[in-house]
Amino acid sequence: MASIFTKIINWEIPSDKIYEDSEIIAIKDINPKAKHHILIIPKKEIPTINDLQEEDKNLLANMFFVAKKIAKDLNIEEWYKLLFNVWEKWWQEVMHIHLHLLSEL
Ligand code: AMP
Repeated sequence: MASIFTKIINWEIPSDKIYEDSEIIAIKDINPKAKHHILIIPKKEIPTINDLQEEDKNLLANMFFVAKKIAKDLNIEEWYKLLFNVWEKWWQEVMHIHLHLLSEL
């Protein structure tokens, strides 16, 4: 079954999208835990960080470059944090990897 983020990528459910390229989207979190709470999501559906393959190295690096660009665009590059939740079926709610970008600036 497709993840909720795959459904967003495929336009099956709406989202507040702020970035898209051929392999990554970034959306505003629907339930923000900070003033800025962005999710950077690969279009490839990888369930958890523990499922990463060697071939995903560039994709993962590109996710961090997208985070850096968004932080600069939002003028929060001097104070933000990035995190992956990786505790299956507890901390990680959506089984499709996503990088959280959070800032109170
Ligand atoms: P995690 O606990 O790391 O899996 O985080 C999942 C995040 O996805 C949470 O912060 C949710 O608020 C967010 N989320 C869930 N559904 C949506 C959605 N439809 N649009 C935007 N964010 C969502």
